[in-house]
Amino acid sequence: GSIIGIVGGGQLGRMLAVAAAQLGYKCHIFDPHERPCAADVAAGFTRAAYDDTAALAAFGQAVDIATYEFENLPVEPLRVLGDKLRPGTKSLAVAQDRAEEKAFIEATGARVAPWRSVSSFEDVEAAVAELGVPIVLKTRRYGYDGKGQAWIRSPEEAAAAWDAISHEPAVAEAGVSFAAEFSVIVARWADGRTTFWDSPDNAHREGILRTSTVPSGDLIAGQTAEARAAAASVAEALGHIGVLTVEFFASAHGPVVNEIAPRVHNSGHWTIEGAVTSQFEQHIRAVCDLPPGSTDLAAAAVAMDNLIGDEVHGWRDLLADPNAHVHIYGKGEARPGRKMGHVTRLTLK
Ligand code: ATP
Ligand code: MG
Ligand code: MG
Repeated sequence: GSIIGIVGGGQLGRMLAVAAAQLGYKCHIFDPHERPCAADVAAGFTRAAYDDTAALAAFGQAVDIATYEFENLPVEPLRVLGDKLRPGTKSLAVAQDRAEEKAFIEATGARVAPWRSVSSFEDVEAAVAELGVPIVLKTRRYGYDGKGQAWIRSPEEAAAAWDAISHEPAVAEAGVSFAAEFSVIVARWADGRTTFWDSPDNAHREGILRTSTVPSGDLIAGQTAEARAAAASVAEALGHIGVLTVEFFASAHGPVVNEIAPRVHNSGHWTIEGAVTSQFEQHIRAVCDLPPGSTDLAAAAVAMDNLIGDEVHGWRDLLADPNAHVHIYGKGEARPGRKMGHVTRLTLK
């Protein structure tokens, strides 16, 4: 096909559309907002609610392949896209509910932090009693960038944490003591082939990814093989087509899965200039059933820093480094905590 539909019009959709355009595809964005940043670089745009089945059906008619860049989408309406949707609704359904996600990951044999599903304060108290502290409450749905989370560091904090997440159905998860965080970004083809990039070392601040660097240190490198096997099992069990990201804690007991994203990921932005084939191009190749590109590093070292909120205003200064690649998403208002762009710095030797 020659028209790719992308459900969701944020920066991930924008970077997917740029990669698709390079291969000669036209992209059509589906998003409820007035002016999503992906629509600026796409050939077509439908503004409609994600649960507007009639609009989705028309979108499905207009495109040859459809994909998504956002996991908090209502699953049922998307079924109208049928086999055109890659990855399918299974990946979406599992990734958008933390309880389903953890149970699914555990069933594949991968390690997750001890956890409980909680839907009442009694459940929270029981989780504190059984798991001990620290634990973190995470709403089952709609959380991102650390939103919808509250830590319980002593049993007395349980009530405040439960209030902080507005008594939403949640998971209570044991705090993992980790030396580093990393991700496995895997692309999977319909026939089961997979490719992986180097796993970046991911540094977060206040629940938001700040920096991803490759190559990682020895600790992460030593856990990558096991983590890749876990990510491949998850992708296989989902029947996933396209890019899938699995976030890990590098613990003393080996890699512990934090969460999955059924899509291209912020910790893979470094691949645009830092790898032979970017995560965005590879996703397009996988969903269009084209041959995989090389995932080899294109530099000795790569560091990606997010530009969050006001930081975006300093982008011209970043260009003083001739090996810096600045990406501005064109999202409008630089609200605090909002991902506005990123900069990737290559160390060539
Ligand atoms: P995003 O989807 O944007 O990556 P999110 O809102 O889904 O973020 P998580 O990935 O669950 O949030 O958590 C954000 C960060 O909080 C993690 O990357 C990690 O630094 C910390 N964190 C989360 N869960 C735990 C845990 N069980 N133990 C220790 N740290 C944790
Ligand atoms: Mg998440
Ligand atoms: Mg995360």
